Amino acid sequence: MARILITSGPTREYLDPVRFLTNGSSGQMGAALAQAVLHAGHQPLIVTGPVATLYPNGAEIWPVETTREMLTACQKLFPDCWGVIGAAAPCDYRPESFSTSKISKKNRPSAGLTMHFVETPDILAALGHMKRSDQWSVGFALETENGPAHALEKLRRKNCDFIVLNSLTAMNSDKTELQIFDSSGQQQAVFCGSKNEAAAKIVQLALGK
Ligand code: C5P
Repeated sequence: MARILITSGPTREYLDPVRFLTNGSSGQMGAALAQAVLHAGHQPLIVTGPVATLYPNGAEIWPVETTREMLTACQKLFPDCWGVIGAAAPCDYRPESFSTSKISKKNRPSAGLTMHFVETPDILAALGHMKRSDQWSVGFALETENGPAHALEKLRRKNCDFIVLNSLTAMNSDKTELQIFDSSGQQQAVFCGSKNEAAAKIVQLALGK
């Protein structure tokens, strides 16, 4: 039985103690992947941002909030895992500064609010570059245009063994349409159906690596 790391859900980047930047990732794909890993007889470790989705019994859950926290947890867990599947949608940017008190509009009538954002670390790229030759990594790419070209650019930049290209229809849905490419750029599968069936396909390809 091998340990498989899965990143799942969104991250949060706080502006002040009560407000944050996030996105609509539901964690459903991460849950479906964890189920497929369990079915294959392996141990899923899920590093997840805040989600309402329930993960399967038997999965080890590591809750985090920010992209940096997700990176730190993954860097600690990955050396003891066989591979990683990056199904999370981490925030790519965070506010440059954090206000320790709640930002108030009281003192700035009609002034608007301008914030400066800085990039967060790329978790999958960091893991892709620390992986040993006996480990593998799978990334996801959600693209609205030039899907295959953008997905293959991400596969190379993040040093993945497979990249799963899916479309906007996957967000907050239990269905998905996807194409899977291997590290040589070859299309390995085209799929349309439930996230559970898609997850089984992705896990089968990754474990066969
Ligand atoms: O956001 P992007 O299209 O680059 O995401 C592609 C892949 O990289 C996904 O698998 C996602 O989980 C991963 N990713 C990550 N850390 C980030 C951004 C994306 O691991 N900061």
